[in-house]
Amino acid sequence: MLSSRRLPWLLLLSLALLVGCDDDEVPDLAEVEAAATPTPTPVPTPTPLPWVESDVTVKSGQVITSILQEQGLDYGEALTLVNAAADIHDLAKIRAGEALTVRSDRETGALIGVIYPLDRFGERRLVVERGEAGWSASEEARETVAVSVPVAGIVNSSLWGACDKLGLSADTIMGLVGVFEWEIDFNTQIRKGDSFRMLVESVRDAATGEHLRHGRILGAEFTSSGTTFQGFRFEDSEGKVGYFNAEGMSSKKMFLKSPLKFSRISSKFSRKRFHPILKKWRSHNGTDYAAGHGTPVRSIGRGTVSFSGTKGGYGSHVRVKHNGKYSSSYSHLSKRAVKNGQVVDQGQLIGYVGSSGLATGPHLHFEFYVDGKYSDFQRQSFPRTEPISSKEKPAFEAVRDALLPELQAVPPADAAAGGDDDDSANAQPVDADPG
Ligand SMILES: [Zn+2]
Repeated sequence: MLSSRRLPWLLLLSLALLVGCDDDEVPDLAEVEAAATPTPTPVPTPTPLPWVESDVTVKSGQVITSILQEQGLDYGEALTLVNAAADIHDLAKIRAGEALTVRSDRETGALIGVIYPLDRFGERRLVVERGEAGWSASEEARETVAVSVPVAGIVNSSLWGACDKLGLSADTIMGLVGVFEWEIDFNTQIRKGDSFRMLVESVRDAATGEHLRHGRILGAEFTSSGTTFQGFRFEDSEGKVGYFNAEGMSSKKMFLKSPLKFSRISSKFSRKRFHPILKKWRSHNGTDYAAGHGTPVRSIGRGTVSFSGTKGGYGSHVRVKHNGKYSSSYSHLSKRAVKNGQVVDQGQLIGYVGSSGLATGPHLHFEFYVDGKYSDFQRQSFPRTEPISSKEKPAFEAVRDALLPELQAVPPADAAAGGDDDDSANAQPVDADPG
């Protein structure tokens, strides 16, 4: 008896046999298709590749020719291989700890190829192969797929430490900061016990499924001091990308929470403090951020540069007028990136951290003015701006409704698994309060 599984195949086979016959003998195609559903997928027999691949890690003191000699090439042939690759990559520059893949003939075991990653994640690779005419090299791009994966972490001492422990790259950490930087000041507000979870792309080798790197953050949740913030990635019909909370409000605000992406506040705004250089009690009319020389400084908001130059104890100084009410200024810069009268966007680079003027070491002295008076920026609160447009709202809601249950299903990290290790704080440089 025929099994039902084989029946569709017979129908397809008879259809194939009918090709070339008279029209009236051809059965109704729709009928055949209906009967043929579901078509079983034929399982291909895997053909073993004619080679095997294995990874070799470069040991200290090893050079490329000695590695290739270990793999069975003689010195002359090893040199020929290196020369063949030279136009794409100089294999002689390979260093201890790096890895390359060697391909050997399955039958004879002879070395027939060398593969070396050309970027951090091996998405582009150098492939040197032995052919009829000797060694030849080519650059190959790996085919990749992006899969959404859950990640959760908890902060013990720093967000950086927590993310690092989870194997997240600096790019992903900056991405997470970027989702929430208008709502959370990552310089001052991060506390032990703060937690986050997110859906992030895992970019994988399409053939093997091997994880290469993390990609875009699709949705994220950050709980800081008991308050939870959410952000969902949405690309509108014009290709503009932003993160919005569940209500479709952009987290973007009039001002960034900080002019530096990552740093520590070393001295807060205060009416009185003991001045380390002047050895006097003076008020501190701004906020000091400890950061390394050359750290990029961003304008906290859109505005016009009203001063760019050197100004007494402020040193190299930039002041931005945001509107009739608010201004901000950035001092002790090592280098300025804007001119007087220039219009700057929120987040635009305006200069680099330095120690010009009266400063004991590199840091940013930042001032914020309301109606021309010094104000404590840390204590200001500004409204959310930029809600999603009504035209884009249905599309956004579809994205959110797909991501929200997935995000809520991410198990929260426990302190032991996702927590970072404690690190000690460094000495904080201070400035000389020129204001
Ligand atoms: Zn200061």
